[in-house]
Amino acid sequence: LYNMVQDLKGNIRVYCRIRPSFQAESENVVDFIGEDGSLFILDPTKTLKDSRKLFQFNRVFGPTAGQDEVYKDTQSLIRSVMDGYNVCIFAYGQTGSGKTHTMSGPPGGTSKDLGINYLALNDLFQMSNEREDIINCNDDGLSLPDATLRPVNSTTDVMILMKLGEVNRAVSSTALNNSSSRSHSVLTVHVHGKDTSGSSIRSCLHLVDLAGSERVDKSEVTGERLKEAQSINKSLSCLGDVITALAQRNSHIPYRNSKLTLLLQDSLGGHAKTLMFAHVSPEADSFGETVSTLKFAQRVSSV
Ligand code: ADP
Ligand code: MG
Repeated sequence: LYNMVQDLKGNIRVYCRIRPSFQAESENVVDFIGEDGSLFILDPTKTLKDSRKLFQFNRVFGPTAGQDEVYKDTQSLIRSVMDGYNVCIFAYGQTGSGKTHTMSGPPGGTSKDLGINYLALNDLFQMSNEREDIINCNDDGLSLPDATLRPVNSTTDVMILMKLGEVNRAVSSTALNNSSSRSHSVLTVHVHGKDTSGSSIRSCLHLVDLAGSERVDKSEVTGERLKEAQSINKSLSCLGDVITALAQRNSHIPYRNSKLTLLLQDSLGGHAKTLMFAHVSPEADSFGETVSTLKFAQRVSSV
């Protein structure tokens, strides 16, 4: 039934998540969050009359929404992986807006407030144990030169691998005198087994913590950093183009325009299901980036 409902709704969904503010309430741009996925933000530079902007998504999670609440709306998508669907979940937004919080949880990796990566893996392992199937790895579809493929048997195995990935990410970013916000982090799970009806399935789940979407001021960066920023912007806009082309049911989908979309090709479009979390920082000084994140997300969600 879940998949039938989803097919009716379309295979691309967009959720917006607003992180708690680091400033006083009065300096926040989020004005109203509706149960129906609507969201109003206020332009701090304008008078009240013409400062309100409306956005509409499949759901909006406000600053008080916890990890469990967010996962509850994601869980059925994870279950559909075990029914043979390829699924891709992204976290999009400017640096500091809560992408890593949603996908991994707070830094330090304590068992409190675990993010989607862990909750999803837990569910997959639990379902595979119930069905006595195996969640497995092979090298199908792996298209990144530096990616490693490791067999895992439990969520703990995955957590250890994720830590290793974080360390690698940190090391390469130090070398560039930069932060992890300048790279994408992709956790891919291949599932091989049998669905509840006994037919064999092969599906995959991509869990993606994207690089920060902020536009880098060209006057401030040069050389490697400028190239890096341009390549991040390019891959994010390619991602938007691919999702838009899918939503419009175009015959040509421009997967080949970036490594990111090429890597995610099998779980974007066709039989696949996509969920994007658009992350927003509520502070007034983030207003510009907030608008551009919400516009990007709106473009993606307007099927
Ligand atoms: P990003 O990955 O987008 O750069 P982070 O996930 O690192 O952002 O979040 C920035 C800071 O805000 C971190 O200290 C994080 O723990 C905190 N934070 C983000 N979202 C939430 C949330 N929903 N609830 C509580 N703290 C959050
Ligand atoms: Mg992050």
